[in-house]
Amino acid sequence: MTAIRTRAPHGAARTATARRDVDVVAAFLEDAAHFPGGHADGVIVATSEADVADALRTSRAILPIGAQSSLTGGATPMGETILTTSRLNRIEAIGDDWVRVQAGVTLADLDAALAAAGKSYPPVPTFMGAFVGGTVATNAAGAATFKYGTTRDWVRALTVVLPDGEVLDVERGAPRASHAFEIAAANRTITVPLPRYRMPDVPKCSAGYFAAPETDLIDLFIGSEGTLGIVTAVTLRVLPARPAQCLAFVPFADRSSALSFVRALRASFDLPVVAIEHMDARCLALLREDGVDRREGVPIPAAAVIALLVALELPAETTADRAYDEIGRARDQSAPDTPLVRFCRALDRAGVLDAVEIAVPGDRARAAQLLAVREAVPAAVNARVGRAKQTIDRRIEKTAADMIVPFDRFEELLSFYDAEFQRRGLDAAVWGHISDGNVHPNVIPRSFADVESGKDAILAFGREVIRMGGSPLAEHGVGRNPVKQRLLRELYGDEGIEEMRRIKRAIDPEWKLSPGVLFPKDTKGTKETKDTKETKDTKI
Ligand SMILES: Cc1cc2nc3c(=O)[nH]c(=O)nc-3n(C[C@H](O)[C@H](O)[C@H](O)COP(=O)(O)OP(=O)(O)OC[C@H]3O[C@@H](n4cnc5c(N)ncnc54)[C@H](O)[C@@H]3O)c2cc1C
Repeated sequence: MTAIRTRAPHGAARTATARRDVDVVAAFLEDAAHFPGGHADGVIVATSEADVADALRTSRAILPIGAQSSLTGGATPMGETILTTSRLNRIEAIGDDWVRVQAGVTLADLDAALAAAGKSYPPVPTFMGAFVGGTVATNAAGAATFKYGTTRDWVRALTVVLPDGEVLDVERGAPRASHAFEIAAANRTITVPLPRYRMPDVPKCSAGYFAAPETDLIDLFIGSEGTLGIVTAVTLRVLPARPAQCLAFVPFADRSSALSFVRALRASFDLPVVAIEHMDARCLALLREDGVDRREGVPIPAAAVIALLVALELPAETTADRAYDEIGRARDQSAPDTPLVRFCRALDRAGVLDAVEIAVPGDRARAAQLLAVREAVPAAVNARVGRAKQTIDRRIEKTAADMIVPFDRFEELLSFYDAEFQRRGLDAAVWGHISDGNVHPNVIPRSFADVESGKDAILAFGREVIRMGGSPLAEHGVGRNPVKQRLLRELYGDEGIEEMRRIKRAIDPEWKLSPGVLFPKDTKGTKETKDTKETKDTKI
């Protein structure tokens, strides 16, 4: 069995005091999922590893939080003491191809520091206010996962404070194990049994604890959603400064042509595609309704039923003038054979070259407008959910899925989404990271019954996705969301959940960290019976 030692926390030991003032605590009771019922025992603002260790030693239950941009309720407290990492915000060192940061550094600050050093960190989620620790805890992914993978692929080392206040420095590659890890802590030896379930073979999967035939210990903590330890520092792999970026907004009059175009881009090795984002017909209608097309100066043709936003990386020497010249000459046989000319020819073959809106390298204003159109889609849906909650029924909530299938099943899955929404008479919009086969179907509820029916549809989607070899939990994680917890059980079965619980019990026997995140808390001495399980299921 592979063993690793813990150490005592660095930094001055001081007793971590929780702030209990109502107005201080009130600011932390909700995450971006607006999960209902948030309440907390207090808030600890950790400024050192020792603070984190103290907090864990002295508190009954702790919920670590980053920017609380979680879309699953995972960063919503349910009676725990909140530990915010916002003051653990130092960028410690930047090397040739790595950066060492504390967990509370935001992606925006990381990006700025790396840009100043001529470097970049590509696998970011859409929200740049997220903290590095939060992205590690959820194994966040994003549009660029198509080319660059998920957070997991970029984490080289972690410092994690375990529930008993001992600290683990763990590096990628050491140690690995197939059955169990042994962690030698100050007062006990922790034997961590590894799960036997197999994760689906898809580019993104934020679905409980990592499993592989040979598991790297670091991977157990990445994506564990704060249930096994609190990440205080992270070493990330980084790249040289980004190449020239180009964005193209591409409307299509029919879905199958758009999907053929995506297939062609995915299959072309000579096209520098980083990401392809997708907005369906309902999304485009919302953008028109909200006047986003006029506001951003991005025309959406009346006939368009789907639009793609394609991100390309072009050679560094591609200036704006040169890019305009290449676009203008793309139909000309004597045009140079450059990546941008090849991309324009692919657009031309798909019959959409004249409808495309392009932001050439360096045109930040146009790029911001195209990105604003894509970002306005979730904002439009969230605003409608919020209004329905205010004006129709307080119980109305965001009802959305985050699933991924192997790309050759993607078109089939979109048709399944359509059929299931239609069968239930639901209004819904679908958008997301189409280059990975990962999109987000969202219900636009007109009643609480729509929310209930939407949850039912999401469970049906999840079963179909699992049948297709995909993951019903792609990038946002599981958190406290009952439907997502149910999908986790659908994916790995009761035995899989029990395997995860064994890991949790080994590392956190008192169930101190984030109880109720990923799966319900162990109730001491009582096993989850078939009856209680069925009651929970039917409540969903
Ligand atoms: C507009 C918007 C767009 C988004 N787009 C994407 C996207 O494209 N891809 C994607 O993957 N997600 C996306 N998200 C979700 C969210 O941004 C990510 O899940 C992000 O990784 C959460 O980071 P955070 O710092 O906000 O963490 P929080 O929301 O604060 O916490 C998330 C989870 O991590 C745990 N946690 C936080 N910090 C630590 C720590 N230091 N140690 C241990 N556990 C910790 C928390 O307990 C919680 O379970 C989006 C969210 C929004 C609001």
